[in-house]
Amino acid sequence: MKQQIDTIPVIEAFSSEDECPFCYLERLAEQRAMRYTLGPGASYMEPDVRAITDTQGFCRSHFQKMYEYGNSLGCALVMQTYLVGLQKELDAQLDSFRMPEKKGLFGKKQEQSLPLTQWAQEKNKTCFLCSKLEYNMNRYYATFFHLIKDPEFRKTVEEGKGFCMAHFAKLLQAAQEHLPNAQLEWFYTTIPGVMRENLARVQGDLDWFIEKYDYRNASAPWKNSKDAVSRSIQKLKGGHPADPKFEME
Ligand SMILES: [Zn+2]
Ligand SMILES: [Zn+2]
Repeated sequence: MKQQIDTIPVIEAFSSEDECPFCYLERLAEQRAMRYTLGPGASYMEPDVRAITDTQGFCRSHFQKMYEYGNSLGCALVMQTYLVGLQKELDAQLDSFRMPEKKGLFGKKQEQSLPLTQWAQEKNKTCFLCSKLEYNMNRYYATFFHLIKDPEFRKTVEEGKGFCMAHFAKLLQAAQEHLPNAQLEWFYTTIPGVMRENLARVQGDLDWFIEKYDYRNASAPWKNSKDAVSRSIQKLKGGHPADPKFEME
């Protein structure tokens, strides 16, 4: 199959030793997005980029990663204009605030939440980095579905390590939406089986990790179990728990 810009990273991910090729791709995309957001290109000084970060803000997990990345001044500048906007919006909310109706005799629950409550909840839902990641991951899913037309790629998937449960769920959902009938049958008869097989493999590694704590096994080899805990966490929830912090080069 012809190698295209989008297919190269996906093929690389599937030939990597990662417990989940989509975790591998997500890490690449996230590091690229971090570099774009706070790295040497200083995109945060461009008004159009700042306008987006001022609207979307960042989630807790990405703020943590931005803090660890190490560009404190960049991080401060991004937060400064975001905070100005946030306070303006809060002022507007408070200007139009109406006290909720008093609860009835039997403490009947409020029918609808207050605009102020809705606003505060909305402010916690969007993230500049999450939306960048989602865009890239959707492209990778589409590329995956394109690639599985190729028998050689299907073989790689069949012999691969499967996926983490988080990306398995996403993949099932995306398959239902995007996969043509020609590939649907292969998908549903293959992918769950690959998951089954590889969950059992990780379970075996975890079992031996626990067995190694028995003094009778102290001198026995670790086999594939030394990193069984971090790989099991990844298999269950995604990500790479053993990764060092991603810091500015
Ligand atoms: Zn994953
Ligand atoms: Zn985020």
